[in-house]
Amino acid sequence: MSEITLSELEKQYGETTAVEDVSVEINDGELLCLLGPSGSGKSTTLRMIAGLETPTDGEISIGEDDVTDRPAYERNTSTVFQDWALFPHKSVLENVAFGLKMRDVPAEEREERARAMLERVQMGSYDDEDPTNLSGGQKQRVALARSLAVNPDVLLLDEPLSNLDKRLREDMQIELREIHEDLEETFVHVTHDQDEAFTLADRIGIMADGNLVQVGSPNEVYENPKNRFIEGFLGDTNFIDGEVDRVTAETVHVETELGREIVLPTDEEPDIDEGAELTLSLRPEILSIDQPVSAQSDGGQTVLADGSTTNAVIGTVENVLYRGSTVRYSVSSNGTTMFVERTGASTDALTAGDDIRIDWNGADVLAFRADGTRVSL
Ligand code: ADP
Repeated sequence: MSEITLSELEKQYGETTAVEDVSVEINDGELLCLLGPSGSGKSTTLRMIAGLETPTDGEISIGEDDVTDRPAYERNTSTVFQDWALFPHKSVLENVAFGLKMRDVPAEEREERARAMLERVQMGSYDDEDPTNLSGGQKQRVALARSLAVNPDVLLLDEPLSNLDKRLREDMQIELREIHEDLEETFVHVTHDQDEAFTLADRIGIMADGNLVQVGSPNEVYENPKNRFIEGFLGDTNFIDGEVDRVTAETVHVETELGREIVLPTDEEPDIDEGAELTLSLRPEILSIDQPVSAQSDGGQTVLADGSTTNAVIGTVENVLYRGSTVRYSVSSNGTTMFVERTGASTDALTAGDDIRIDWNGADVLAFRADGTRVSL
């Protein structure tokens, strides 16, 4: 079994705290993506699992074994790096077989395994090539085959696709996912690209400032972010500032910078006081647009018969941005700019200067306290 347990991992470099507190249990056969902005400690965490860095504090176990103090070569992990680091004067086949040679696997078996791995990454016919003649994508496939050939308990991937162009990167993401499904080994994959994490991961671990802030399925972290940082990091949103005006057993009324009250329905009385500052998140996908309306028609909120709440504002289209399959509009309302999106195919285009009404369901709005923590509603 090759589950990985990280307990209160910490890594200091002199005055710099690269990793402050990382604790997580990674399941056997799971693909966990560590996702976070540059400098958040992802690589350092991965390198500690590999044994390439020694933790300042905390423990690492793989399977039953506490490997915290074991050198890299005594852990059955294999790492794929961003810069594929292939040997230039060895053939592709020799490159893939190299790790097996280091482990004293007999020549015949080495070749057999190396060929099988090259086939697996669709590079079977390149065995005699010099790696310097390969494209970036092909080099990365060979590097992957080399890492997998030694049959590691755990495959560690440190931004392996970030040197590839977009199209190739997307193809490789799908392929990596398939390889993981075939092999059923534990993969830990570091990326700063949220699309990549969403494509690949069974679970995503979100890192910020050396801390593992939340771990969950892609859907969980997107739908149910623990704090404001995660909400802002995972895709675009409109953050609207406001102050709590009134709290009832069923609703929180927030006076906002849109010049309107936004009503959030609650299941139980939330842990928030009147007068508290809140930031509300209105993701573009929860907003719907009503075609040009006259400026006299009124925004405001309506509590529907089933208890759900509809909110609306009137705004003026300021900018129209075509983004391929979608059109993004920036809309000004009470001096605050929000953006809304529509798929390119839908109905009539809006133009700058149009007055529109933006509607949303209050139940789809997330609320964050001034310290960034989420208010559960
Ligand atoms: P990420 O992978 O999320 O981009 P890293 O783990 O590479 O982040 O780095 C986290 C922090 O630790 C950064 O501030 C980085 O500058 C610092 N750091 C990483 N490695 C070293 C090192 N060898 N010496 C000093 N500081 C380091």
